[in-house]
Amino acid sequence: MNDLDVQDQMLKLVNSVKVEFSSLSLEDLAYKICQKYKVKINVQKLDEQDGFFDNTTSTIVLNDNVWFRPRRLFTLFHEICHMLIAVEGEEIIETLTSHAKSDYEDVEEELCDLGASEFLISNQEIENIFQNIDINTFITLLEKYSHASAPAIARKLANLYPERAIFMICCLKNEAREGDHVVEYAFSSKKMLPYRVRRFLSVPNNHLFCFDYNKYSGTESNGETVFPFKKTWTCYGEYFVENGRLYGILHQKKPVDKSNQLSLL
Ligand SMILES: [Zn+2]
Repeated sequence: MNDLDVQDQMLKLVNSVKVEFSSLSLEDLAYKICQKYKVKINVQKLDEQDGFFDNTTSTIVLNDNVWFRPRRLFTLFHEICHMLIAVEGEEIIETLTSHAKSDYEDVEEELCDLGASEFLISNQEIENIFQNIDINTFITLLEKYSHASAPAIARKLANLYPERAIFMICCLKNEAREGDHVVEYAFSSKKMLPYRVRRFLSVPNNHLFCFDYNKYSGTESNGETVFPFKKTWTCYGEYFVENGRLYGILHQKKPVDKSNQLSLL
């Protein structure tokens, strides 16, 4: 069985749980699922993590420092997915066990991101609305879902995007201090694998995102990424800033502007 099959299994698992509790608010949905599976939710101080699931005590622990609703919701559903894999994901675990130990964790993390995004916004919703994915799609979806599902939207778009790109959300490390930016979320399109951007990586001040972020202007940039990787990467960035967060797409090559293309039909 390959990784795509295991992703399918994850989506099926999420949807089988989701249909039981249709038309609830996102917080209610999480609450009902935790009630059904007798999972406690604790909010406490955590250093680095946004949250984790403790299988031995059947508890989801959330970082009380994370108050931004989209991030807290995404974490909550991500941890619910860890729980679902542990409780209902026998086949998924079987597939994961065939990976090396280090891979197992990475793949499970990816699956939980995928599952969380499916809880927050379904594949169908996005696939039915849009044929082309660009920065405007990102903006439109964020408006439509009032930002509650921002990481989920970024994850979905990355998954559907046919070219090499990374969908990112950046925020200020310390909300009170300007100029200290970190990657809050980074989701690679399928073609990007295994090229990843680590979460909470600092965005250097001379980065093309950061430069314009500080100016609060512009929606596109062209240049080399200067993330501290061994090799630099010439890319094309599209982004916008809203409520102190930067939502962006780093394309490996400049996307074709489909609106200017002549129709062959
Ligand atoms: Zn996790």
